Amino acid sequence: MISFKDLSLPSEVLSNLTNLGYITPTPIQEKAILPIIKGRDIIAQAKTGSGKTLAFALPLILKLNENEYFPQALIIAPTRELSEQIAMECRKLAQYKRDIKIITVYGGTSLTKQVASLEKGADIIVGTPGRLLDHFSRETIPLKKIKTLILDEADRMLDMGFADDILKLVSNLPKDRQSLLFSATYPEKIDKLTKVILKEPIEIKMESQKEKIDIKEHIYSVNDKDKALIVAIQHFQPNLAIVFCNTKVKTIEVSKMLEDKGFDVATLNGDLEQYERQEMLLQFANGSLPILVATDLASRGLDIEDVDIVINYDIPMKSEDYTHRIGRTGRANRSGLAISLCDDYGVKKILEIKSEVKIEKITDLNPNKNFYLQGSVNTLSIGGGKKRKIRAGDILGTLCKDIGIDNKLIGKINVYADYSYVAIDKSVIKKAFNGLKNGKIKGKKIRVWWL
Ligand code: ADP
Ligand code: MG
Repeated sequence: MISFKDLSLPSEVLSNLTNLGYITPTPIQEKAILPIIKGRDIIAQAKTGSGKTLAFALPLILKLNENEYFPQALIIAPTRELSEQIAMECRKLAQYKRDIKIITVYGGTSLTKQVASLEKGADIIVGTPGRLLDHFSRETIPLKKIKTLILDEADRMLDMGFADDILKLVSNLPKDRQSLLFSATYPEKIDKLTKVILKEPIEIKMESQKEKIDIKEHIYSVNDKDKALIVAIQHFQPNLAIVFCNTKVKTIEVSKMLEDKGFDVATLNGDLEQYERQEMLLQFANGSLPILVATDLASRGLDIEDVDIVINYDIPMKSEDYTHRIGRTGRANRSGLAISLCDDYGVKKILEIKSEVKIEKITDLNPNKNFYLQGSVNTLSIGGGKKRKIRAGDILGTLCKDIGIDNKLIGKINVYADYSYVAIDKSVIKKAFNGLKNGKIKGKKIRVWWL
């Protein structure tokens, strides 16, 4: 096994990686980083959770010119949430450089604000195809100096009908750019896109040997999917579970059903407002709402720590979607569990996706009827973030020192540009809420909401 040191990276890059807890490159990182540094075009396929983001982001950031005024890299991803996640990872990896600006550009948020931040200058732009094209048509996005184009989850963007948008954007990028494609799945039809976008690409496909993925799959034949879902949760007793449905309507029905039974549930689908989408995902990831019922909006790229079970309430239409859905667990060399609940139609579908499956009986499980997956924490939203120079430590300070909350009862703290969120044990949530409402963070009065 090699370490990042063996990739002859500059010492400041190595020490930043060490600070971030990255010691040994994953197989895809080992294979992709050097060719990307050398400037080659790449089409890379590696399993879910294998560190593809760092594989493209590390060399990209290494090559950024700190004195360039215009954006140098464009990263296109299928969803807003994934764009946000990629941007966050890039920011961490760029900590060792001065003044690298990474901005996200996607729908459902203010266009004017995005224009303003684009005008201020950015080094890396991460976004979804539709909104990127929108900016391009308005001439609010400078693409002339883009040196690197990255398509993450490219095959998904084709499925979503974004091929034309992407091609239009790409045809307006400099011809001498570098282009990189990353996904865990490449259906054949993607050739159409890759031939136009990539120049003499190196294909990096991980051998199945190194690709062994530790996700245990169970397929159950069931009569009543609602009942079976509860049986599965009460049998396996996960900490965090994602439940996938095929439609937005179904996510709402299933969420409601689970809530009525006493489970704490977050719902994620494309009908929600963008702030709701963000807050749902955040409350799932910080454990306030430990079940996420979602459409395939959540199936691509999202990296949420500690998701120990993925449940297919509906069987997906495509085998790629199956791969990506279950890939939300068992990430970064951890193990995971994937459950599929199949009624008669579901059995037919799963056999199309996986020819060799063992179908088990849900009635063989032993549910603990007293297990209700509930969050031990609640989330408080704070009306201030990075722009007001608020950091996690400041929030922690106010909660512990001023309000007198025990450090151990405070969970994840997320600080964004305008808002921050803090997870707090339910036993002291009221005290924390009232304390923050009447108190100050860094000497400033702030607004607080109890989500
Ligand atoms: P993929 O895009 O292949 O599905 P991600 O890039 O989202 O995977 O990475 C999955 C997880 O692995 C992330 O939590 C990331 O922080 C972690 N990770 C990535 N590279 C390494 C590494 N070299 N060592 C340890 N953890 C890593
Ligand atoms: Mg990814």
